[in-house]
Amino acid sequence: MSLQRRTYRFRMEPTKDQEGIVLRLSGARRFVYNWALERRRSYYQDHGKAISKKQLSSELTALKRRPETAWLKDADAQALQQALRDLDRAFEAFFAGRARYPRFRSKKRDAATFRVPQRVKVENGRVYVPKVGWVRVRQSRQVEGTIKGATFRQTATDKWFVTLTTEFYLPDLPLPAANPTRIVGVDVGLESLIALDDGRKVAAPKHLRRAEKRLARAQRAQSRKKRGSNNRHKARLKVARLHEKVKNQRLDHLHKLTTRLVNESDAVCIEDLSLKALARTKLAKSIHDAALGELRRQLEYKTIWSRKRLVVVDRYYPSSKTCSACGWVNQALELADRGWSCVCGTMHDRDVNAARNIRAEGLRILVAAGHAETLNACRGDVRPPTLGRLTPAKQESHRL
Ligand SMILES: [Zn+2]
Repeated sequence: MSLQRRTYRFRMEPTKDQEGIVLRLSGARRFVYNWALERRRSYYQDHGKAISKKQLSSELTALKRRPETAWLKDADAQALQQALRDLDRAFEAFFAGRARYPRFRSKKRDAATFRVPQRVKVENGRVYVPKVGWVRVRQSRQVEGTIKGATFRQTATDKWFVTLTTEFYLPDLPLPAANPTRIVGVDVGLESLIALDDGRKVAAPKHLRRAEKRLARAQRAQSRKKRGSNNRHKARLKVARLHEKVKNQRLDHLHKLTTRLVNESDAVCIEDLSLKALARTKLAKSIHDAALGELRRQLEYKTIWSRKRLVVVDRYYPSSKTCSACGWVNQALELADRGWSCVCGTMHDRDVNAARNIRAEGLRILVAAGHAETLNACRGDVRPPTLGRLTPAKQESHRL
């Protein structure tokens, strides 16, 4: 049996009263976080060593007894203890070199948030929050497993979301060998365009591309407004709203795509995030990296849950430049080239060719590990596209 974690994120619809309580809880959490950060700093200065968890925790109890901070008693005790643990984690990340030194949380700059480690229930479109009661949620899915914690967070546009973490056990059964005709290579290109080794290309849906354009426009408009002005504030809200929308649509699109990919195959091969320096701009690069990271995250758990395989190909060779038919490397290939013809006569679509190389490397890894049936097997539906059939990505896109 292996322990699996799953998260669910639902939009909350608190009443005005409930929202007031939730905001006060977030305020108490922020207060305790900042107080603990200051305590850790001053204790270290005075004693030359870190304050123990136990002492910090008992100091928190004492803090709640003082008249000037007695209001903390109105907050959920476990949510406040959780703030100490969150700070602990922030310090751990700092000492491990993964993050900067923890900073004080500000009401203005940081999103209102708090975490409850247990005693959260979900039923019939309502979530039970300690000290708040039953709050309505837009429950899009049934929650499975045991709820191990809940994070409540307000977005930049003042919406509230709850993220539930659940745990459940998955039996450890041996995975069957992958059928080579059901091994798919995936290349994530620019502009959320995904190419598969069988020649299919999946473009971001039109509504998402439209929203992305609106977002870019709004971001430009915001940067033109005077700092500190009311117009700047309004422009920032607009950007935040569009940003949220684009993010949700991208996620939704990726979820449909990864579910389909996992259902269609025994093994999915993707590239490692590290080496792809293809993006023209910083923004395009960050969108690409985020898409690839999220694609990988979703494929990781979806393949585990459906007892399939995910192969992450560590690419040290240039997959766009290498001919997937003969192995020749086209050093002259430019970023702008969408297609190219190889010395062996094969015409390549840039992204599909990359997906084929990723699949070939994934298949090699699977065979070497004894996880796929044979090495030579080619996907039956692979037809090298001819240059004459290379059309703009839009027309070649298939709906997945
Ligand atoms: Zn070739």
